[in-house]
Amino acid sequence: MRTVTGAILAMNLEVKDFVHRDVEEADRRLREIGARKILLQLPDGLKPYAFDYFTYLSQRYDVILSSSPVYGACDIGPSYLYDRVDAIVQVGHSIMRNVKYPRPVIFIEHYRTVDVEDINTEALKNYRRIGLIYSIQYRPVADRVKRILESKGFEVIIGRSDRRMTYDGQVLGCNFSSVHSVEAEVEAFVIVSTGSFHALGSQISTERPVFLLDLNEMSLRSMEKEADTFIRKRYAQIYRAMDAKRICFLVDTRIGQRREKLARMLMDRARDLGKEAVLAYTDNISDQDIQNMGCDLAVYTGCPRVPIDDQDRFTVPVLTPAEFSMAFFKSSKRYVLDEIVSVDEFTDQ
Ligand code: SF4
Repeated sequence: MRTVTGAILAMNLEVKDFVHRDVEEADRRLREIGARKILLQLPDGLKPYAFDYFTYLSQRYDVILSSSPVYGACDIGPSYLYDRVDAIVQVGHSIMRNVKYPRPVIFIEHYRTVDVEDINTEALKNYRRIGLIYSIQYRPVADRVKRILESKGFEVIIGRSDRRMTYDGQVLGCNFSSVHSVEAEVEAFVIVSTGSFHALGSQISTERPVFLLDLNEMSLRSMEKEADTFIRKRYAQIYRAMDAKRICFLVDTRIGQRREKLARMLMDRARDLGKEAVLAYTDNISDQDIQNMGCDLAVYTGCPRVPIDDQDRFTVPVLTPAEFSMAFFKSSKRYVLDEIVSVDEFTDQ
C-alpha cells in the first residue's frame, strides 16, 4: 500500500526519521477510523518540524495545524477547532485514559534514547527497596535503569498509576499516583528524568526521599532540599492569602483540566466563610484578568503547576485547591501538592 511519506521521501532525505515514523503511525491509525480532516498538535520542541509534519499529512488529509503551545494530553485545543475535524493528532504525549475526548485523539508518543551503562548508587546506600518512576519520554530508559539497580542488589518496585495515566510508573506534573501506590512499601524513590520538574513534584507528593537520575548529568541527586525551599515559598503565599476577602475561582477550559465542580464546591465554602466569590472560566490565566476582576486571591483549578511555577507573574496569591483548603480550613498539617485524579466529564459542561 502506498504510504503518505513514501511518495516524497526521496525528495526529503534530510527530514528526520522520527517525523517519517510519526506520520506513518498517524496515517495508519487515521485510516482505521476513516478520518479526513484532522487537527495537528505539536509540542514546542517539535514545532521546528511543523512544515514536514504538515506537508506529509496534507497529502492525504485536510490538516489544521495548531501553533498554540500544548503541554499535555489534557489539552486538545479549543472546541471551535476540534469541532471542525474528524480526529486530532497530538505528538509527544500519551493518552489520559479517564478523559472522555469529544473526538478520536491519536497520541504519538516520543521516547528519548539515552545509553545508560552504569549508575553510581552511593546516594542510595541506606536503602534497599526502591520505587522507580519516570517521565514518559524516558520509559524505555527506565526499564534499563531497573535492570541496573536490580543487578546491584536493590529491590525495584514500579507503582501502579491511576486512570489519568497511560503507564505504571509514569508521573505527570499533575499526578503522582505511581508514587502513592507504593510509598508504604519502598524506602526511597528514583525518578528517571531530566531537569527537576517531575522530580520536585514527586518529592513534594511523598515523605519518602526522592532521588533524581538526571540523564543529562548521569548522576543521582536528592530532591529534599529543593522541595523544602519550594514548600517554604508556597507557605508564604498561603499566609498572604489568608486575609483575602474577594476570591476568584478559576476553571480552565482545557478538557483534561476542567474541574468546575470542585471550583463550585470551594466557592460555596468560601461564601460560607463570608467571602465574596466569583467563578470564572479561563483559557489563559493572566494577572491582568485577575486584577480587572478585583480579586485579592485567585484559586485556580486547572493545571496544578501553573500557580506553583508561575506565581512570580501574579500580583495576588494564586493558590491550588489544596492550598486554599490549607489556608482557610486547616485541612492538613503538612503541605499537600494538588493532583488531578479526574476531571468533569465533557457532558457536564
Ligand atoms: S494538567 Fe499540567 S501537568 Fe498535567 S498533563 Fe496537563 S499540562 Fe501537564
